Amino acid sequence: MKTPENSMTISYWQKSEETITRDALESFQLEKLGETLRHVYANVPFYRSRCDEAGIDPSRIKSLDTIKRLPFTTSDDLRLNYPYGLLAVPKDEVVRVHTSSGTTGKPKALFFSKGDIERSANLIARCLVMTGTGKSDTLQNMMTYGLFTGALVMHYGAERVGALVIPAGPGNTDRQISLMRDFGTTAVHITPSYALYLASVLQKKGIDPGKDLNLRRAYMGAEPYSEETRKKIENLFGIDVYNSYGLTEMNGPGVAFECPYKNGMHLWEDHFLVEIINPETGEVLDEAREGELVITSLRREAMPLIRYRTRDITKILSDTCACGRTHRRISRIMGRSDDMFVVKGVNIFPQQIEQILMGIKGVAQNYQIVLESLDQLTIKVEISKDLFDGNIDHLLKLQAAITAKVRAEILVKPTIELLEPGTLPVSEGKAKRVIDIRTM
Ligand SMILES: [Zn+2]
Repeated sequence: MKTPENSMTISYWQKSEETITRDALESFQLEKLGETLRHVYANVPFYRSRCDEAGIDPSRIKSLDTIKRLPFTTSDDLRLNYPYGLLAVPKDEVVRVHTSSGTTGKPKALFFSKGDIERSANLIARCLVMTGTGKSDTLQNMMTYGLFTGALVMHYGAERVGALVIPAGPGNTDRQISLMRDFGTTAVHITPSYALYLASVLQKKGIDPGKDLNLRRAYMGAEPYSEETRKKIENLFGIDVYNSYGLTEMNGPGVAFECPYKNGMHLWEDHFLVEIINPETGEVLDEAREGELVITSLRREAMPLIRYRTRDITKILSDTCACGRTHRRISRIMGRSDDMFVVKGVNIFPQQIEQILMGIKGVAQNYQIVLESLDQLTIKVEISKDLFDGNIDHLLKLQAAITAKVRAEILVKPTIELLEPGTLPVSEGKAKRVIDIRTM
């Protein structure tokens, strides 16, 4: 097992909860599952009829497996019940709403009670403390403030541990850099694509993050990204990068986090009950297998969700972690079952391609996958400027190397286009990596 690069002492925010024995954790989950089912049975007609149809009496929940008899809750269920259909408390008890916009149709509305805000802040605080962020830190929050949960939930958690929070929001890169310098920012909350862009701007301005900035760590989430991209960002800035996982439907960020061992994200099982399913058939899989993560909230008050399909592809890691936390981990998100695309009948996630590209010397930060037909895939890749040295052999060699490596991974031969840095559109938010121009 890897040891943390910085020899930090292990610290906890809620030690007894974070290191609870597995037996005690499972009894606690059963108790909270019963409470949650009784709560939705009494207050949400949608779940009451589902329990009745499945023959489940919420006052007699004897096993965690009982929920396997209930159907999944999907994002369509949230849209169909927009805005108040799944609310489980009187409107007076709600203190905040976040929405999650879909690509089509109605948004999803997610409600928080005072208690929900409190608990989500504590979950973020667990993450920050376990990775070394505390009172003496300055956290620059570069996620979008607003209806999206990413920034606000992190903000509350960082304040909770006593850090100074800069609510910068995303974009406006020159101002971000000034803020980082003026306030000695030690931690950032950022998307991986924006971190890569920020690194390229710093480079252009001749700013050396190791010498000219005070940055020590970054929390990254909101987009799936590869281990190679993490290493690239760690090297570019000379910092530790920690994966963070969350979704608006489950409070936003704070569902699962990496500890200093960076060996998967501890998923807070005293708040969330997890299952792994086959995204195509809905069959519950052995948890060690890769599949779609399904989450039941155990502590949400305003809007609990039962067996919610996250669409995120991952697997559960059950081996013990040297940090002492007993909550199992999930592997980095492989992709969204929605992002998966098919070429020549092969299921492909953009992250598989990213992982290869970021591991090849000479490949720069930005790339784009273009789908032209059902059997044709083009990858546009920016490469370092010094490779355009007038010697076409160097380019052909790199092109052949990328083609071979991608083909070996996804079993489809791609067309590779090499581009000078700065050719592809840059992203100050979530990157659009796959362009689908197929007409079907
Ligand atoms: Zn750990």
